[in-house]
Amino acid sequence: MAGVIRRLDEAVVNRIAAGEVIQRPANAIKEMIENCLDAKSTSIQVVVKEGGLKLIQVQDNGCGIRKEDLSIVCERFTTSKLQKFEDLSSISTYGFRGEALASISHVAHVTVTTKTADAKCAYRATYSDGKIKAPPKPCAGNQGTQITVEDLFYNVNTRRKALKNPSEEYAKILEVAGRYAIHNSGISFSVKKQGDTVSDVRTLSNASTVDNIRSIFGNAVSRELIEVGCEDAGLAFKMKGYISNANYSMKKCVFLLFINHRLVESAALRKAVETVYAAYLPKGTHPFLYLSLEIAPQNVDVNVHPTKHEVHFLHEDSILEHVQQHVESKLLGSNSSRMYFTQTLLPGADCFSSEAVKSVGSSSAGTRGAGDKVYAHQMVRTDSREQKLDAFLQPANNLLSTAPMEATTEVTAGSPKAVLRPQDAERGSVSELVETADVQGDTAMPAVPSESGRASPVPPRKRPREDEDIEMEQEDSRKDMTAACTPRRRIINLTSVLTLQEEISNQAHASLQEMLHDHSFVGCVSPQWALAQYQTKLYLLNTTKLSQELFYQILIYDFANFGVLRLSEPAPLYELSMLALEDPESGWTEEDGPKEGLAEYIVEFLKKKTEMLKDYFSLEIDEEGNLIGLPLLIENYVPPLEGLPMFILRLATEVNWDEEKECFESLSKELAMFYSIRKQYIIDEANPTSSQNEEADSGSTTWKWTVEHVLYKAFRTYLLPPKHFAEDGNILQLANLPDLYKVFERC
Ligand code: ADP
Ligand code: MG
Repeated sequence: MAGVIRRLDEAVVNRIAAGEVIQRPANAIKEMIENCLDAKSTSIQVVVKEGGLKLIQVQDNGCGIRKEDLSIVCERFTTSKLQKFEDLSSISTYGFRGEALASISHVAHVTVTTKTADAKCAYRATYSDGKIKAPPKPCAGNQGTQITVEDLFYNVNTRRKALKNPSEEYAKILEVAGRYAIHNSGISFSVKKQGDTVSDVRTLSNASTVDNIRSIFGNAVSRELIEVGCEDAGLAFKMKGYISNANYSMKKCVFLLFINHRLVESAALRKAVETVYAAYLPKGTHPFLYLSLEIAPQNVDVNVHPTKHEVHFLHEDSILEHVQQHVESKLLGSNSSRMYFTQTLLPGADCFSSEAVKSVGSSSAGTRGAGDKVYAHQMVRTDSREQKLDAFLQPANNLLSTAPMEATTEVTAGSPKAVLRPQDAERGSVSELVETADVQGDTAMPAVPSESGRASPVPPRKRPREDEDIEMEQEDSRKDMTAACTPRRRIINLTSVLTLQEEISNQAHASLQEMLHDHSFVGCVSPQWALAQYQTKLYLLNTTKLSQELFYQILIYDFANFGVLRLSEPAPLYELSMLALEDPESGWTEEDGPKEGLAEYIVEFLKKKTEMLKDYFSLEIDEEGNLIGLPLLIENYVPPLEGLPMFILRLATEVNWDEEKECFESLSKELAMFYSIRKQYIIDEANPTSSQNEEADSGSTTWKWTVEHVLYKAFRTYLLPPKHFAEDGNILQLANLPDLYKVFERC
C-alpha cells in the first residue's frame, strides 16, 4: 500500500536543514568565529560547557549588530554581506548566505548581546526557530557581540544521543579554534571551559604565526619549521605557510589548510605534499603542515554546502603540482640542526642490501620520477664559515684527530661493508700502527695502541703541515664517494628509538639552544669547564656534561647508522673487566666472588650480545671476546680510552637488557658517559710516559683544540640542550654587559 505524502511542517524542515549545517558544537563555533572575523574583531573569546552541548559563548570586540537588524539576524538568508548573485565571485568575507545563525537558532536557544560603535548602549535579544522572541532590550555592554548558544540539539533527540562524549566535542572545538588562531595571528583567541581560569587555547594579539603554532602544537614542532611561500600569476594563486622540516615527524599528519582564509580539507593536496615527505621521513610518520592558499575567488566554488569542507577549484592539478614542487625545494634546501645527525653517519655508513633497507633515494620515485636522486641530506657538507684560523691548524700530536677521517664504502662479496680509510698523507705512519691494515681491505683509524687491554694514548707523532691540501682532498674525495656509492641511511622505525628521540626533542630548551648555536667560544677554564659569550652575556659551561648529552643524542638520533672506530689491536674483554674490577671505583667486594669468575662471566655475557651491539651501536666484539671496534660518533673524536675498562664492566652490569627501550637508553647513556670529555683523560694525556715539557704543553693544546674545534663546534649545530641544564648549573650565566654598566655607573 502506498504511503500518504504529506507536506512537512516548516519548523521540522528547518530543523532538518539546520542539523545538516550544524552537526556538532565545533561546526557552530567555526561559524561563529568566522562571523567574529568578518566583524573585524581583534579579540575572540570562547567559553564552553559540556563540550559545547550545554553552552557555547562567543564574545568578540567587532563592529556589532545594529539594533534594527537584531530582529532578523537569525532568519535564514539574512546577511549583511551579499546582495546580488554577482557578488559571489568577489566575496571576501566568510559568511555570505546568512545560514549559520538561523540554523543554530533552530536547534538551540540563542541569545545575542551586541553594541555597535555609535549606539548608546548594548541590546540583547533571544531567538527560537529563527525568530526573535521579544523586541531587543537595552542593556550594558562593550562594543562587539556576544552570542550565547544553550542546550544545543535540545529538540533533536538523535543528534543529542549521538554526541554523548563532551570531552570529544571539546577536543574538536579546541582543534578548530586553535587552527583559526594560528591562521589569524594579530587577533587574540582564547577557549576555555566555563569556570576554568586557564584557557586551553590562548594566543596573544602581538604573537607571530610561529608563536601561535608553538603555543598550540608545542615547541618540538615550532622549532623545526620552514617558512614556505610561492605564487603564480598565471594560475591566479598565492600560497604561504609553515611546514616541518625533514628532521621532524609525528605519528599522525597535522595539516592545517586554509583556502581564502576558510579552514578546509583537500585530500588531493594532502596527498601531494605527503608524497614529498615520504622520501624524507621514517616510514609511518608524518609532517606538520600549515598552508594558506589564496585563490582568485572566481576560481573557487564557494557556493558549496557549509559542511562540505572538501574543496575543489579551477586549475586544481596545476596548483597542486606547483605547491608540491615548492614544498620539495624547501625541504631540500632546509639546513637545520638535525641534518647533522644524518651527516655524521656517512663517514662509516654501511651500504645495505636493498631488501634490508628501504632506500631513501628510491622511495622518492613516486614524487616526481626522481629515481635515484641524491638528496642534500645524504651528502656530506663542510662549512668553513664559522671557523677560526686555528681550526685548520690541528695540533701535531692530536690524539683525537690523528687522521682527519674520511669514509669510503666498499662492497665485498654480497655484504657491503664500511671501512675507514685514513688520509693518504697519513698512510706511512698509519701502517706502523695498524697491523691488521690490509687484511680485509680495512684500514683502521690509528686510535688505540695497547699493551693488551690497557689502553693508553698514542705516543705523539709528528705530522707534516699539509692541512690546506688535506682540506681540499677531503672535500674532493667526499664528493667522489657520494657520487660513487651514495651511502644509504638505514631508516629506523623502532618505536623505542623514535620515542627516545621524541623525549629528547620535548626536553629541548629553545633559548639555550639558540645560545649554543650562536655563541662565541671564549676559552677553556679546565677540561671540564669552558667560557662562551652570547650577545652581551658570558656563560660558564660544563663541557663534560654537554659532551655527554651530545653523544647520547647522537647515539639516539643516529641509531644503527654509525661508522666504526677500529681498534688497532683487539682489546680482550676479559682483561678490561679485570682492570675495572681492580679499580676501587667498581665497588667490588669479596662477597661478589672471585674477580676472575666475574670477568669470565662478563665476557660470556657480552659475547651473547655481539650481534645487536655491532648492528645498532657499531660496538664490535670478535669471536675470541676481544673488543675490536667502537662507534664513530663525531669526526676527529676518540673517546678517552682509559675509561674503557669501566665502560665494559658497566655495559655488563648497569644496562637494562630486558626491555627494548630501556636497553637502548641505558646503553646509550653508558656509551655517552664513556665518550664524554673528562678531567682524568686530560691529565693522562698531558703527562705522557716519556714526559717532556714540550710534549706536556702540546698535550694541553691538543685537548683545548678538541674542546673548541670538535666539541663546541658540534654543540653549536647539533646539541639540543635539555631544559635542566638551565637549572642545574651546567650552563651558568656569569655576567651580562648591561648589568655591568650599571655597576660601573655607580663607581
Ligand atoms: P553570514 O555570516 O553568512 O552572513 P550568519 O548567519 O553567520 O550569516 O550571520 C548573519 C548575520 O549576522 C551576518 O551577516 C552579520 O551581519 C550578523 N552577525 C553575526 N555574527 C556577528 C558578529 N559576531 N558580529 C557582527 N555581526 C554579526
Ligand atoms: Mg557567518
